[in-house]
Amino acid sequence: RDSGAADKATYDWSSEEEEPDGSARPIQVLVVKDDHTFELDEAALSRILLAEEVKNREVVAISVAGAFRKGKSFLMDFMLRYMYSQASEEWLGEAEEPLTGFSWRGGSERETTGIQIWSEVFLVDKPDGRKVAVLLMDTQGTFDSQSTLRDSATVFALSTMISSMQVYNISQNVQEDDLQHLQLFTEYGRLAMEETFLKPFQSMIFLVRDWSFPYEFGYGQEGGMKFLEKRLKISENQHEELQNVRKHIHSCFTNISCFLMPHPGLKVATNPNFDGRLKEIDREFINNLQVLVPWLLSPRNLDVKEINGSNITCRGLLEYFKAYIKIYQG
Ligand code: GDP
Ligand code: MG
Repeated sequence: RDSGAADKATYDWSSEEEEPDGSARPIQVLVVKDDHTFELDEAALSRILLAEEVKNREVVAISVAGAFRKGKSFLMDFMLRYMYSQASEEWLGEAEEPLTGFSWRGGSERETTGIQIWSEVFLVDKPDGRKVAVLLMDTQGTFDSQSTLRDSATVFALSTMISSMQVYNISQNVQEDDLQHLQLFTEYGRLAMEETFLKPFQSMIFLVRDWSFPYEFGYGQEGGMKFLEKRLKISENQHEELQNVRKHIHSCFTNISCFLMPHPGLKVATNPNFDGRLKEIDREFINNLQVLVPWLLSPRNLDVKEINGSNITCRGLLEYFKAYIKIYQG
């Protein structure tokens, strides 16, 4: 896979897909720079998606998107544990084992608006006998000023276009501005996609962290769906703008769902020395994690990426990625 000295001279260590010890790590494949231009690390992305074992496999592309410091990496580290344990019952790990993966790395602590991809693409056997390639993406942005909002919207649009499942990680509740951000992302995305009679995107999952009204809507997916139904309901007496946001979201995605997660406890939220060990995470959170992660990632629930009704391979995804980027580079 690695072509040795010639390549090494061209790419610096930061675009190599493995640690010096050979373990996998997150690779920043898309960066939004200070001058608001987009930079795609095509070499790194190609190394991941064109690896011999995966390039011709149909791809399941899972993105977790949202603002910084809302627990995305923490969640994705558990998703990695599940993928590495090949969906075994024991995937959650040992009580004292620190979490590793997307978080807890100096490099990933930089708050860079853009997309990181886990350097290892997982091969999974679906119950129907197909072997698919699973790609994990971390999409992050900031929403605090006009210019960062625009950059983030573009990055979110891109990750929504190239993923088969977008997990929108939000804190505490689904606020009106979360929905407006989502409308902006998907509007950018729709403009960039060809005219099609099909809904342009696949699954959207609202993942609400630190949900604190379980007596109104219970934790998990069922409570989440009831909550979301209420939140996305369109009614006559709503302001037209609010109605439009809701119609738009419904028209973009084939599946929309929601999962309500409890707070993980004070050690996770406030202790600077917390290293991710299960022992220090609230039981209620762990119980729900044991439902959430298999719900997202179990082999039967993995949906292959489709564009205009056709299944996409890793190699195909790379081409779409490059084509979509061009649109925004204008
Ligand atoms: P990211 O920037 O979205 O990737 O966030 P991180 O996963 O790096 O987490 C940021 C901080 O929030 C860390 O101190 C975590 O321990 C903590 N954290 C992780 N998950 C949660 C959660 O569900 N709720 C709260 N309140 N804090 C969390
Ligand atoms: Mg992170």
